[in-house]
Amino acid sequence: MTTTVAQHTPDATTANVTPDTPKELTNLLGLSRTQMEAFFLSIGEKKFRAAQVMKWIHQEGVDDFETMTNLSKALREKLARVAEIRGPGVVYEGTSSDGTRKWVLEVEDGSYVETVLIPAENGKRRTLCVSSQVGCSLDCSFCSTGKQGFQRNLTAAEIIGQVWVAQRSVGPRRDTANRPVTNVVMMGMGEPLLNFDNVVPAMKLMLDDNGYGLSKRRVTLSTSGVVPMLDKLGDEIDVSLAISLHAATDELRNELVPINRKYNIRALLDACHRYLAKAPENRQVTIEYTLIKDVNDQQEHAEQLAELLRELACKINLIPFNPFPNSGYEKPSRNQVMRFQQWLYDLGYNATVRMTRGDDIDAACGQLVGRVKDRTKRSARYIQSVQLDAD
Ligand code: SAH
Ligand code: SF4
Repeated sequence: MTTTVAQHTPDATTANVTPDTPKELTNLLGLSRTQMEAFFLSIGEKKFRAAQVMKWIHQEGVDDFETMTNLSKALREKLARVAEIRGPGVVYEGTSSDGTRKWVLEVEDGSYVETVLIPAENGKRRTLCVSSQVGCSLDCSFCSTGKQGFQRNLTAAEIIGQVWVAQRSVGPRRDTANRPVTNVVMMGMGEPLLNFDNVVPAMKLMLDDNGYGLSKRRVTLSTSGVVPMLDKLGDEIDVSLAISLHAATDELRNELVPINRKYNIRALLDACHRYLAKAPENRQVTIEYTLIKDVNDQQEHAEQLAELLRELACKINLIPFNPFPNSGYEKPSRNQVMRFQQWLYDLGYNATVRMTRGDDIDAACGQLVGRVKDRTKRSARYIQSVQLDAD
């Protein structure tokens, strides 16, 4: 992967800059450790500054060089001339009755993305659901993000910026025992493997001890199955993997998850085996299975699923379909979800059910389109037609 920091010579930071010369400031927020080190070398400073500045940004939530008291005044002033720490703007912040928190963030071009923090009922986990793109190009038939089409990739700064904003607003990470965000799942808007070059540096920051210091078991990438990029992921980083399977036959999956026509179930499961072989500490993948009434929630589907997954080290997470207007699909009854879970249990799988949280602030993870507003006509029409923009 290429390092994308702007190059500054020591001279360029001081001389040759008149007040009306437009300066391009390097946003330090999205730089991984290697990129941050390259940046400091490029401005004639020592590499170890990277760790110091990363701690200020990601652990203390600082966005002002002046606050970085372990740097000399001269260095702080130099940084202010060539760099910035710019996160997304918060346009809405809400907490639901069950403690789920949601932020609507404005990114560079005026698009909005959403991030939700979901506390576990036992209080032990606080999982942040992070977006990787504005919209999505993959058009899964049951997904509201897919329906609005693809607008653009988020930058690494905009991706890690979601964690940064959440942590800043819950409180800085002063000690590891009491982290504001304990887990991150890339399950918001977008397909993370189609924004690989920005998602990977952002995930590296989540794992970095000078960043968010999360263990690889607590950082999960969810994909609908972009097989070649899955292989590339395993070469670059070791994080937990969730696969959006949703169907156990190619015939049905082609309909629900159209990328299956390019990379079918066999190819996807083979890629999962290769990923696990590269990342021995993550001994299993999570299989996500959205249960849709009368589409994939019958006993035969449970049997096909059990048979298909026989040889894969995995756990199954059942997600009751989260309805949205004009989707053409329905949510199965609670009883049907429990029946499906029991069928799997009888076939040897202890599947979990992901309950929707934060309903009253429209914050279901994987369903983060509620108030997304963007500038494209297609999306505007879609949002208008389903009136999702209403509070
Ligand atoms: N693009 C990635 C990650 C974002 S979607 C992926 O598809 O894996 C996160 C999860 O939410 C996926 O498993 C997705 O299939 C699921 N999802 C999308 N729309 C949903 C809906 N309406 N109801 C329930 N789950 C949904
Ligand atoms: Fe994109 Fe994932 Fe939605 Fe499919 S489910 S359209 S891959 S965000």
